[in-house]
Amino acid sequence: MKIHTKAVHAGERKSPGSHVPVTTPIHTATSYFYASMEQLDRVFGGQEQGYCYARYDNPSTAALEELMCALEGGDAALACASGMAALHTAILSALTDRRRSIVAANAMYGATVSLLMNVFEPSGTAVHFADICDLHALRAVVAEAKPGCIVMETISNPLLRVGEIDQIAAIANQAGAALVVDNTFATPLLARPLELGAHFSVHSVTKYLAGHGDVLGGVVVTTRPHADSLRALGRTIGPVLGPFESYLTMRGIKTFPLRMERQCANACRVAAWLATHPRVQRVYFTGDPQHPDHAAIRRLFPPGLFGAMVSFEIRDAGRPEVFRLMDALQMIVRATSLGDVHSMMLYPVMSSHRELSPKHRERMGIRDSLVRLSVGIEAPEDIIADLEQALA
Ligand SMILES: *Cc1c(COP(=O)(O)O)cnc(C)c1O
Repeated sequence: MKIHTKAVHAGERKSPGSHVPVTTPIHTATSYFYASMEQLDRVFGGQEQGYCYARYDNPSTAALEELMCALEGGDAALACASGMAALHTAILSALTDRRRSIVAANAMYGATVSLLMNVFEPSGTAVHFADICDLHALRAVVAEAKPGCIVMETISNPLLRVGEIDQIAAIANQAGAALVVDNTFATPLLARPLELGAHFSVHSVTKYLAGHGDVLGGVVVTTRPHADSLRALGRTIGPVLGPFESYLTMRGIKTFPLRMERQCANACRVAAWLATHPRVQRVYFTGDPQHPDHAAIRRLFPPGLFGAMVSFEIRDAGRPEVFRLMDALQMIVRATSLGDVHSMMLYPVMSSHRELSPKHRERMGIRDSLVRLSVGIEAPEDIIADLEQALA
């Protein structure tokens, strides 16, 4: 089945009764009882399929997890209360029985860098950063660091670099490391990391998958060998997603391939327009033939789909000029987050990468003149018109 079909049907209509609700209900019960203690014992022991306690599993959340397995080509999934909870759990699961050392891409979401440096490192896990778009350099860092896990984003935030997941998975396997890929920006429409050899694919479902700016959530999808450790961590730490959020996320996902196709097409139009604007110094867009990772993008993503994020630098701008531009926006929403139906602009220095030192940002190439645009599903003419009047 194609992804458009899976997005609508997978995980739904599991009810065994004679009348089956067409969409999975929101199951709010925290615990379940059975006809006999014998049966409850079998459910607790895992010999019989069933639900017993909401931290262990929940029918609404299980439906979402089955849907995510179908979309990502995975064997097991854990839906979490946020993208960060999902990343934390995925890395813990990846490091189970492995060396407590991480090699991470040097261009990543700010909170992910904080997770590695402020949570993993102080608790005794060595953290090393590497340019994952330079496989030669990556191999050298991996040889030195002997990581138990490699962490990367399919499309990096906010400079939109694209690493070759399949080659990096080979490097990870050779080193006995697990590869964790944050697939939030690409979505399973553009890339399915597990099919390319990654061991964990992680999403902030808050973004494209839920897509309507009304739910915070995350998900980890993995392959059979890591399924038990992932579920066990979920049960012990309890980062799990609640049934209301699971319902909203599933509702959002039904239209995610349609939205994403439209957003990708809109982003191509907007990026091409920005590139011709005299006040725009530089455009970062994965559809640009001059993009440094153009070959990887052509090889890994389906034709014509490049993602829907466009970052750009405003000529000679500092914080006051960027603030003026963003305050002048009439339709594009000035807000943190991305991937929603509405276009949104964010200032990385102030929000997503605020916690990093200016020196760290400089090293990552995130300048004070850089803004990040998440292109929505609106008419592209209206998005461009709003940018045009704000840049005037
Ligand atoms: C938003 C985001 C996260 C964190 O997700 P939350 O749902 O906000 O916890 C992680 N990675 C990427 C790439 C993101 O965009």
